[in-house]
Amino acid sequence: SGTPLAGRVAVVTGASSGIGEATAARFAELGAKVALVARRGDRLDQVEDRVRADGGTALALPTDVTDRAAVLAMADRVADELGQVDLVFANAGVQLISGITDLATADWDAQIDLNIKGVMNTIQAFVPSLESAAAAGRSADLITTSSIAAVRILEGFQVYSATKAYVTQLSKLLRTELGRKKIRVATIEPGMVDTELPDHVTDPAASKLMADLIAQIDVLSSEDVAETVAFMSAVPKHVNLTEITILPTEQI
Ligand code: NDP
Repeated sequence: SGTPLAGRVAVVTGASSGIGEATAARFAELGAKVALVARRGDRLDQVEDRVRADGGTALALPTDVTDRAAVLAMADRVADELGQVDLVFANAGVQLISGITDLATADWDAQIDLNIKGVMNTIQAFVPSLESAAAAGRSADLITTSSIAAVRILEGFQVYSATKAYVTQLSKLLRTELGRKKIRVATIEPGMVDTELPDHVTDPAASKLMADLIAQIDVLSSEDVAETVAFMSAVPKHVNLTEITILPTEQI
């Protein structure tokens, strides 16, 4: 059918731009009700309007996912307003590359707080709901956004890559507990995607390096990634596409 996610209730973090925005829109297009989570409320409102204009259901819930109490409060609102969540896309992340000798400690903290703790906060808030959905015989998905940086050796990426290695490993570890409860845990590892990600890099040289790399090849769009995440969520519930790497064809 054209709506393989009908009846599902999704939460997407990082839904105000890039991969999260595209995936939230795709989930809604495929029939899911979608909670839109990020900090920029104005951007979430735009995504909500776009989904509604297309006949879908979305709810903007501005939240900083590094704030554990705020994430728990957001989860309560989702349950009240959209119903029991059965599809979680823990996607919000930031990439702040710099040399280790730069001692860009604020950037280290920002990446660890969002890419690690923000993901854990999201998981903590929604695992009970996923357990209930799975116990009731419904599909239940926890999908994270890792990166090929999880496994590649890239200069300046020491903290970012470590956070993404954590995300990939976490996904494998959680399957030991959640797989037998019929919760599908999976991760997507994209290569270069054209998003706002490089705009946040504080080191100008690193920022230029990223922009140059992106300009050299035909990189992925957020929609390319969204399509894949939607596919991972829509396969029969006994099937788990545990780890998918998606690269631009030209990226080696
Ligand atoms: P964007 O910068 O476009 O998206 C990042 C999203 O995270 C935004 O919606 C941002 O919204 C949100 N966010 C940032 N901080 C917080 C916070 N504290 N609380 C809640 N939301 C937050 O980049 P991408 O779409 O590229 O990034 C999405 C994911 O993809 C990240 O995990 C990234 O590491 C990963 N990735 C990206 C690749 C790429 O080439 N682009 C490659 C591989 C992985 P707001 O500022 O409104 O809070």
